[in-house]
Amino acid sequence: MEFNDTYKMLIGGELVAGSATLDVLNPATEEVLARVPDATEADLDAAVAAARKAFPGWAATPIEERKAKLNALGDAIFGNIEGFARLLTKEQGKPGTEAQGEIMGAGYWLKAFTALDLPETVNEDSDERISITRHVPLGVVGAIAPWNFPMILAMFKVAPALLAGNTMVLKPSPFTPLCTLKFAELANEILPAGVLNVVTGGDNLGPWMTGHAGFDKISFTGSTQTGRRVMASAAPTLKRVTLELGGNDAAIVMPDVDVEKIAEQLFWAAFTNNGQICIATKRMYIHKDVYEPLRDAIVAYAKTVKVGDGSEQGTQIGPINNKPQYERVLDLIQDAKDKGYKFLMGGEKADVPGYFIPITILDNPPENSRIVQEEQFGPVLPLIQFDDYDDVIARANATDYGLGGSVWSTDEEKAFELAQRIQSGTVWVNETQHLSPLAAFGGMKQSGVGVEGGLEGLLEYTNAQTLVRRKKPAFAQ
Ligand code: NAD
Repeated sequence: MEFNDTYKMLIGGELVAGSATLDVLNPATEEVLARVPDATEADLDAAVAAARKAFPGWAATPIEERKAKLNALGDAIFGNIEGFARLLTKEQGKPGTEAQGEIMGAGYWLKAFTALDLPETVNEDSDERISITRHVPLGVVGAIAPWNFPMILAMFKVAPALLAGNTMVLKPSPFTPLCTLKFAELANEILPAGVLNVVTGGDNLGPWMTGHAGFDKISFTGSTQTGRRVMASAAPTLKRVTLELGGNDAAIVMPDVDVEKIAEQLFWAAFTNNGQICIATKRMYIHKDVYEPLRDAIVAYAKTVKVGDGSEQGTQIGPINNKPQYERVLDLIQDAKDKGYKFLMGGEKADVPGYFIPITILDNPPENSRIVQEEQFGPVLPLIQFDDYDDVIARANATDYGLGGSVWSTDEEKAFELAQRIQSGTVWVNETQHLSPLAAFGGMKQSGVGVEGGLEGLLEYTNAQTLVRRKKPAFAQ
């Protein structure tokens, strides 16, 4: 595919320019990178109508054919890795190798999901009746994606929704719409008109979607704060919702770890994608017996990491994606400064164009500090000392979030035991952030409602329908 500068929405099988445009900035330079359509309410109505029109045909398409289309979409992404990755770096900021990883992950997600099927359960098969429960598609899904992993998180929704027989209107974040619009061009060559529609717009478009009576479900990934609004706005028409929201993941590091070997891995648990990962380690609790040497080893490694424009060779960490997020992170840093917490490195604003924040690590700030209690979603990590396991578990769980968490130890059994006491949707031992299309992923508490991935995630795009057939009815005898 040609990655030219023209960006159009996909509505009912047509590429549509729209009547107004939005600027998309390169976060490494703050320069305008491209202009994308700014959808009107009429554009959204047209997209919903197209999805509704396409629904009966797509729902009736045999599942094997729907799987073939998902495989073709995945192949189309794999055929354009370089072009997508370059564009992703420009709009999102992440370094080239990470951008490639996300694009390959997006293609993989579409293909790997086709291993799943919609189950049918026989509830009763007696002389009197047969009762089965099957899973039928919901209808039209509205998908709303964030800016930290725009492509793969969109595919988290496209794969199960389309596999289950739904049609979709997908909205990327206004900060990162470009790869999604190029994906729409590819999808238009593969999918029947109206099965997947992609609309782009500003701050009004999300609320228009969640309030629109033409959607049967909203699948949303973003902040907990916006998630609450989405749920409220879905209530009047009782839309189904899947909400993948924020997190404040704790890593618990036991004293038996090999300090030199683990420091680099722990660093990246927190700083991959510049800390802009829902399941990044956002608080690191280190046992007092290894606190000082491990703290020093993490800082020593951090000082070797290159922060810069993601499109430059050798860059390991790019800029923050957008200005509001940049300001949120700076505000948390300022609060830590105002309170007199100890900085091991960072803490200063980089005096260059672009939304750059130097790697910032704090030494044992208090448990009730904002940087420990809030989701930073940026390159700032508090290291915190602990000496009692019950206490550290209580601290890890004393939050409204419950997305992820991790335990690190050479004693895998003991770590596994501790991991099971963390109240989060996913807990890792000796790694983080490993997700699979075939495993349920979601948040406990206010980190989300429902899951994506796995059979559980697929079934969230269906209604369970029980069919009961009476055998030898009395009136027939
Ligand atoms: P955000 O909530 O600001 O925006 C997410 C999306 O919602 C964007 O497309 C945005 O345009 C749209 N939106 C904004 N206001 C809306 C409204 N009132 N109604 C409907 N849609 C609206 O989130 P963000 O800043 O893009 O993403 C960062 C957040 O997302 C972090 O909190 C992060 O932890 C979370 N996140 C969660 C997961 C997960 O799977 N649990 C994954 C990635 C990111």
